[in-house]
Amino acid sequence: KQKLLKALKGEKTITKDGKEIHLYANIGSVADTAAVLMNDAEGIGLFRSEFLYLESDTYPTENEQFNAYKTVAENMAGKKVIIRTLDIGADKQVDYFELDKEENPALGYRAIRICLTRQEVFKTQLRALLRASAYGNISIMFPMIIAVDEVRKIKQILKEVKDELREQGIPFKDVEIGVMIETPAAVMVSEQLAQEVDFFSIGTNDLTQYTLAIDRQNPKLDEFYDAHHPAVLKLIQMTIENGHKGGAWVGICGELGADLELTETFLRMGVDELSVSPTFVLPIRNRVRSLDLSQES
Ligand code: PEP
Ligand code: MG
Repeated sequence: KQKLLKALKGEKTITKDGKEIHLYANIGSVADTAAVLMNDAEGIGLFRSEFLYLESDTYPTENEQFNAYKTVAENMAGKKVIIRTLDIGADKQVDYFELDKEENPALGYRAIRICLTRQEVFKTQLRALLRASAYGNISIMFPMIIAVDEVRKIKQILKEVKDELREQGIPFKDVEIGVMIETPAAVMVSEQLAQEVDFFSIGTNDLTQYTLAIDRQNPKLDEFYDAHHPAVLKLIQMTIENGHKGGAWVGICGELGADLELTETFLRMGVDELSVSPTFVLPIRNRVRSLDLSQES
C-alpha cells in the first residue's frame, strides 16, 4: 500500500475523466515543510501562523515573523504558500495578549476580531508577510470572517502597509488574498465576499462547530456530532457555487477535506483545491485518480 502511494509522487491529482484539482498541505510550523515536500503536496494551503505567538512569551517581532515566512516560501521554491493571519483566542490562549476571561470564548474575542481592534499587532504581521512575499509565492488568508465590511477594512489596512513599504523602498509582491469560510454568516454572504478576494478556503472544523452548535473541543458531545451532517455539506456546496459566481476559487482546508468518503462529493461540487495534513496528501491523490465523474455516482 505504502509503495503504491509512493508511486503517486510527481503524478497529477486528476480524475479519470480529466478533472484536476490542487492538492496542498496544512502546516503549523516551519519544520513541517519537510513533510509537505516528502509527501509531494503541490503547495501549502494553510500555514497556521499561531505557532509564532504560542511559542513566545512576548509578541514575535516583525523580523522573527519575516524569517519564518521567508524560510517556508524559499523551501517551497515557488510553490503556493497560503499563510493565515493570527487566529488566537478561543482554544488558543496567549498570556501576553492579556485577553479577558470569557463565558463563550469560541464566540468571543478572537482571530480577525483581535487583528481589527489591535491594528499594530495586525500590521506587524502584514508587514512581515509582504516582505517575505518577495522570496516566493505567498498568499494571505484571514480567519473567522463574518462580514463583507471586515474584508474591506482588512484591504484598507493592507493598502496602508503596502504604501508604507513602498515609501521605504522595501520590495514585496502583489499577493493573492483569501478568506476562510468557517462561519455560517460567511457562507450566507459568500457571493459578495467572493467579489472582494481571490479565493476562499473552507474551514470545516469551525464551520461544523458553528453550524451544529457543537463545541469542537467537548468530547461529551461526540454522539451528537455528525461530520457529514447535510447542513454542513449544503453550506460547503453554497460556498463553492457562490465563490465561483463571484470569481473566487474555492478550497477546503478543514479536516473534512481529508475525508476519503467525501472526496467524490467535493469534486462533484466543483471544489478547486483540497488542503490536508501532509500524510493525507497521497491517499487523497489516490482517491481522486480512481474517480470518474462522467459516470453517475
Ligand atoms: C477550521 O476551522 O476548519 C480550520 C482549518 O482552522 P482551525 O482548525 O485552525 O480553527
Ligand atoms: Mg478555524
